[in-house]
Amino acid sequence: MLSLLELTARQMERGDYLSRLYLTARNQDDLNTVRATGVSLDTDMEQLRNLVRDPGQRSRAQNADSCVQELKKQFFAQLQQSTEADRMSMTRKVLECRDIISQMQLQEAILLKQRISEAQQITYQNLIAGVVFLLVSLTVVLILFGILLRDASKRIEMEKQISDTNDRLKVTVKTLESQATETNLLTSLRGELQLCATPAEGYRTAQRYVAQVLPAAKITLFTVNHSRQLLDLATTSDHQAQLMDGVPLDACCSLRGARARHRKPGNSEVDCAHFLGNPPQDYLCLPMAAHGQALGIFYIECPEKCDSDKLDAHLNILQRLAEMSSMWIAGLNLIERFESESIRDGLTNLFNRRFMEISLDRELRLAARRKGDLSLLMLDIDHFKRFNDTFGHEAGDQILRKVAEILRDAVRTEDIVCRYGGEEFLVILPGMGAEASFWRAEDIRQRVSKLRLDFPGEATKEVTISIGVSTFPQAGQAVEELVHSADRALYNAKESGRNRVQAASSPITV
Ligand code: GH3
Ligand code: MG
Ligand code: MG
Repeated sequence: MLSLLELTARQMERGDYLSRLYLTARNQDDLNTVRATGVSLDTDMEQLRNLVRDPGQRSRAQNADSCVQELKKQFFAQLQQSTEADRMSMTRKVLECRDIISQMQLQEAILLKQRISEAQQITYQNLIAGVVFLLVSLTVVLILFGILLRDASKRIEMEKQISDTNDRLKVTVKTLESQATETNLLTSLRGELQLCATPAEGYRTAQRYVAQVLPAAKITLFTVNHSRQLLDLATTSDHQAQLMDGVPLDACCSLRGARARHRKPGNSEVDCAHFLGNPPQDYLCLPMAAHGQALGIFYIECPEKCDSDKLDAHLNILQRLAEMSSMWIAGLNLIERFESESIRDGLTNLFNRRFMEISLDRELRLAARRKGDLSLLMLDIDHFKRFNDTFGHEAGDQILRKVAEILRDAVRTEDIVCRYGGEEFLVILPGMGAEASFWRAEDIRQRVSKLRLDFPGEATKEVTISIGVSTFPQAGQAVEELVHSADRALYNAKESGRNRVQAASSPITV
C-alpha cells in the first residue's frame, strides 16, 4: 500500500509538472506523457481501491480517486485555454489530492505500525503458545516416557520374577525328580529286602543298592559280630580291598562319632583303623544302626574316576538306604536269633531235642525211601554229677561245652548233633551203617577221653563218655524205637563199666 501510495504521489507530482510544462510549452510529447501518467494514475487508483481494507482508508481512496478524476477533468478542460485562476485551482486540486494521498500514507503508516504491533503481539502470543505447547508437549513426553520407563522397569522386574520363579520351579522339579528316584530306589530296596531270608542275603542286597547310587565306587559292608566286639567283613564289591576283617568297633570313626563320615583331603586328616596298608585319601563310612544298636558300617571308597563330590551329593539317599537296610537286617538278625534259639541249645549251641525229633523223623523217612542206612549215637558223660558236686555247676557247664565242641569236630557236616538233655547228647548219622557208626562213636569216645580239664587247686581231671549206637533198620524203624535202642545200648555200656561204645544190634564191643 505504502509503495503504491508513494508511486501514486510521484505520478501525481510528475503529472502536475508535465501538465504545467505542456500548458507552458505546448509540447505534444509532454501531453502524451501527461495522458500516460493519467492512465497510470487510474491504474494506481484501481489498485488502491482493491488493496484497501480499512474503512477509513477506503473512503480516502475514493476521495483520492474522485480528486484525481477532477484533476484530470480540470487539466483536460484547460488544454485549449487556461487562466491563472484555473492553474491556481489545478494546483490546489493537486495539493488536495497530494494531501489525501499523504493522509492515506500517514494512516497507512499508522495501520502498518498497528499491524506490525499486532503481528508482533501475535508472534509473541504464538511464541508463548509455542513455548507453552512445547513445555506441555515436553511434559507429556516426559510423563509418557516416565510411564514407559515405569512399565519397562515393571516388565523387567516381572521378567526377573518370572525368571526367578522358573529357576525355582526348575530346582523344585529337579528335587522332585530326584526325590521320586530316591523313593523308587527305597521302595525297590524294601521289596528286595522282603525277599531276603538271611542277614547275609540282606547284606548283599543292601550293597547292590548302594552300588546303584555310586556305580564306580567300591562298596564294602562290615557287620558287628555276635560278641558285639568286632567288625566282620560281610560283603564287598572290591575283592582286592585293603581292609581288615575282625577289627574293634572303635576302629571306624563313623561308629565312634555315630554319624556318617566323609574323609577327604582338607576336610579331616584322621583315618579309620580298618585298613591293611595306607588308608586311601577319599572314603565314606556310613554307620548302620537299628533299635539303638550299631549293626555295622558301609565303607565306600571312590577311585580316581568317581567324583568325590558325588559322595556328598548322594549322602542323603545313601543314609536313607543304610537306614532302611539296617532296619531290615536287624529284623533278619532277630529272626535268625529266634530261629536259632528255638532249635538250638543255649549252652552248647547244639540243636535241641525238639529239632532232633523233627530231623530224625525226616531223616528216617528219607532213609526208608532210599533204602539207605542211618545210625544214632546216644552219648552220656560218665559220673558227671561228681564234677558238678566237686567243682561247681559252672565247671560242669564248661565240660558240656568242650564235649559239644568235640562232637561238632568229629562228625560230617550232614550229621546232626543235638543236646538230648542234661549231660546226654544224640548224634544222627544219615547214610551211615552199623559198623561205620560204631567206629565213629569210638573215635568220639577217644577224643573225649583225651580231654584234660584243669580246675583251680585240683589235679588235672579226665572226662569219659559212654555211647550207645543203634542203626536203622536193624535196631528199629520208628523214631522212638531207634532212640530207645540207642538208649538201651548206652545203658548197657554204663553197666559194662562206662567209657565204652555199645551197639544196639551188633555184637561188636571194644
Ligand atoms: P552216670 O555215669 O551214671 O551217667 O552218672 P552221672 O552222674 O553222670 O548221672 P546222673 O544222672 O546221676 O547225673 C547227671 C547230672 O548232670 C545231674 C545234673 O545236676 C547234671 N546236669 C544236668 N544238666 C546240667 C547242666 O546243664 N549243667 C550242669 N552243670 N549240670 C547239669
Ligand atoms: Mg545222664
Ligand atoms: Mg552221666
